[in-house]
Amino acid sequence: MLNRLSLYDTKSRQNLEVQDEDGLVKIYCCGPTVYRPAHVGNLRTFLLADLIKKTLELNGLAVKLVQNITDVGHMTEDVEEEDKILSQSALEKVDPFSLARKYELIFHNDLALLNIAKADLYPRASESIALMHELIAELLKKNHAYIGSDGCVYFDAKSFPNYGQVSGNRLDALKPGHRYEYTEGGAKRFHADWALWKIATHRTEMIWDSPWGSGFPGWHIECSAMSLEYLGKRIDVHVGGIDLRFPHHENERAQSDAITGTDTVLLWSHGEHLLFEGRKMSKSANNVLLLSEVIEGGYDPLSIRLAFLENRYRMQMDLTWSAISAAHTTLKRWRALVNPYRNISVANNAEVLETINKDLDTPRLISLLRSAEKDMSRTSEEKAALFLYADKVLGLDLGRQEIIKPLPNDVAETLKQREIARREKNWEESDRLRKILESNGLIIKDTAATQEWEWR
Ligand code: AMP
Ligand code: ZN
Repeated sequence: MLNRLSLYDTKSRQNLEVQDEDGLVKIYCCGPTVYRPAHVGNLRTFLLADLIKKTLELNGLAVKLVQNITDVGHMTEDVEEEDKILSQSALEKVDPFSLARKYELIFHNDLALLNIAKADLYPRASESIALMHELIAELLKKNHAYIGSDGCVYFDAKSFPNYGQVSGNRLDALKPGHRYEYTEGGAKRFHADWALWKIATHRTEMIWDSPWGSGFPGWHIECSAMSLEYLGKRIDVHVGGIDLRFPHHENERAQSDAITGTDTVLLWSHGEHLLFEGRKMSKSANNVLLLSEVIEGGYDPLSIRLAFLENRYRMQMDLTWSAISAAHTTLKRWRALVNPYRNISVANNAEVLETINKDLDTPRLISLLRSAEKDMSRTSEEKAALFLYADKVLGLDLGRQEIIKPLPNDVAETLKQREIARREKNWEESDRLRKILESNGLIIKDTAATQEWEWR
């Protein structure tokens, strides 16, 4: 039996057992850039950290999870690079710090709606500038960094011989034409070097004094600074979306390891991207779904969580409205099964633990539950016990009682009219009324004898 969680490690390209020190596992997860509400794609990545945490806890381990808030230094991918926070604050005509706090709050609300457990700490980049200064000074002292001809401080990529092991992008194969985040106009020694501290030049907001002049930090140094400060020189699992493999995590690794002198991160875990209705979900592709829109559509936000869990975190996944709707219906059915037994004592279930311990095989776990649900040889109480145990990781509130909204009078009347139309075999009228009922949030199921309905 697998009695430890193993996860796919991007660097070694194999499954590794998650390590602990005296029963404590330390996890760092790259957090949101708070210039807009996180889309559900971002939330899929944050769910990955939550699944790792909940699984480790089910294995009896303690977890310390740190997730940063990026509120400075993350530049847009346009030719004219701009800080994402500053460009949005200009658009919304609000102070950049207020803007960042507004979206940070939405991020926390979204996590709560998805039952994503709170991290132990959410340090903000803008409040960690002194930590970054310390690291930059040390990197300069150790000759891993230098001051470019434009006064900015750069990391010397060639000074870190293991560069590229997370993403497989070897330094000698990286071509100069590739964009490396910062248009420094030839001030760097080597095209793959990156900025640790940028001089303010024309920028007037979100700048800080530093030993190298007034300016602002590069994006990658914040994660080294915060992870080393709050988790120490050994990080058991580092989590992020697959796009962060390069350059963000490659650069973070070089910075952190140059400081600690060891392989700081033991396991790099990356979640694959979410697509929506067939296309990559991103703001730039104008293909974004927000959790608030799912709720406005009348769906339980945890339908999104279930829809995600039906897919392996390491596979690209195409989310559709019909998958959300199907997950919503499944949730209701499962809660109806489990709720009457919500207070029974729940024993450990070796099959569940073994399944989830195998690189978070949530699709298999869900199909295990589906088969149990149909299994005539098990009592409802036995089924509920299994579901409640699995729910410690799945986080779907399966013990919850569904509150059935009463039918408004006009909707009840339409239902009655449709019943009559069906009896009279007036299919055109019955279809017309079905559409009205559906637009009021009802799901209609016709049987030979009658029409059944439920709230979506
Ligand atoms: P950001 O707020 O842009 O810094 O991104 C926050 C997290 O979301 C990062 O770990 C990204 O890798 C991840 N991410 C971005 N787009 C997607 C997507 N479509 N699907 C899953 N994760 C994503
Ligand atoms: Zn990061």
